[in-house]
Amino acid sequence: MVVTRFAPSPTGSMHVGNARTAIFNYLFARHNNGKLILRIEDTDLERSTRENEEKLIEDLKWLGIEWDEGPFRQSERMSIYKEYAEKLVKEGKAFYCFCTDEELERKKIEAEAKGIPPHYDGTCRKLTDEEVRIKLENKIPYTIRFKVEPGDIEFDDLIKGNIVMKEGMFGDFVILRSNGMPVYNFAVVVDDALMGVTHVIRAEEHLSNTARQILIYRALGFNTPYFSHTPLILANDGSKLSKRHGATSVAEYRQKGYLPEALFNYLALLGFTPESGKEKLSKDEIIKEFDIKRISKSPSKFDINKLNWLNSEYIKEIDRDVLLKKLKLFLDKSYFCNYDKNTLDRILILSSGGIQYFEQINDNVKIFFDDSFNLSDEYLKNNQSLIKLFYNKVSSINNINKDMWKEIVKEIGKELSLKGKELFMPVRVITTGQEHGPDIYEVLDILGKDRVLKRIERFIR
Ligand code: GLU
Repeated sequence: MVVTRFAPSPTGSMHVGNARTAIFNYLFARHNNGKLILRIEDTDLERSTRENEEKLIEDLKWLGIEWDEGPFRQSERMSIYKEYAEKLVKEGKAFYCFCTDEELERKKIEAEAKGIPPHYDGTCRKLTDEEVRIKLENKIPYTIRFKVEPGDIEFDDLIKGNIVMKEGMFGDFVILRSNGMPVYNFAVVVDDALMGVTHVIRAEEHLSNTARQILIYRALGFNTPYFSHTPLILANDGSKLSKRHGATSVAEYRQKGYLPEALFNYLALLGFTPESGKEKLSKDEIIKEFDIKRISKSPSKFDINKLNWLNSEYIKEIDRDVLLKKLKLFLDKSYFCNYDKNTLDRILILSSGGIQYFEQINDNVKIFFDDSFNLSDEYLKNNQSLIKLFYNKVSSINNINKDMWKEIVKEIGKELSLKGKELFMPVRVITTGQEHGPDIYEVLDILGKDRVLKRIERFIR
């Protein structure tokens, strides 16, 4: 049975890259009727928090990524890592290292000065059993270091193909710190092996860790899983996607009013191309089509325009009542006065046409609330005849309905010999302050005679 895992470190909010890793693991497990395990890698006690863990879980649930086992916390499995580290020492595959941080730092600087790789120099590897026993008795703090034996490390990555890591890339490395905490590379192997993980799908930046991990698998006598390293996600300018490119966390997208289905769909297809070539697919369709072999070897670009397009497509499919509920969740509190419920609903539906994410509703409804927008003197001068005519006509009619607004605008057009954009644009601008917006007759109908007059009265010169 296929077993995958998502193993986030709860050290901050969930990055979209991490979410994509979770999605790929989820898709691969579901496609193969396998299992997905959630494991919280919280051994970095300074940076890991329960609050981040909760947020992470909330983000996963929101995205619709269901796991089958866990969450397991590494911080609750300390004795297991210690046991396996000790086992390696007993078998002569690891050793106690009593070197202090200062000594190690000094040796590293010396090595660098001599131009040799700053690998561990093997001081404690050479200690006799007796020397070790005495140091332990004297309670000298120690780490446990893994003995790296010579040789290249080779494996087949399901995405990247055959990978060869040349020997000498690293020296004997620490697996258990002096405070008893395992390092990532050690805990991850013990957990993946004991949890029966068959496929490790994770970001490319872990590729160099994989070499160390393979050595640990072998030393512990565990089978290595299949590895798949997913290429980076870049920003549109080709640099690594970061804060300066805009929202990078799942939470930010949620807060802006993206739909989980859309973000899931977008991230799943960021680097993976379904055979059908379709861009918009439901979760079930992606599960059916998912194939690691169709994950690109080269980096993918995070294209916000595509995500926006996809999200707007999903928004279009939402039923009116549900859409209203969602829009109201994102609408600023200040917009809840002024209009009765039915009119507000009408405003929201009208203003939601073409929105890409829900937060945009606040900009779109402004035209119904802002009576004090300004226009330049030049604009007012150029449009005085239209402004005056419009004002006079509207003032002289009572109970104007939608059709009558249409009629009024038509008459103005005739009288001033204006047609099309030359007519509609100034009407829209003098009544809303905007050049674009929803159906102008609907807008005027909602604003009503008094409000329209109040707005354009200010522009009569
Ligand atoms: N905790 C690691 C991370 O978040 C997990 C890497 C892995 O999947 O092995 O990067």
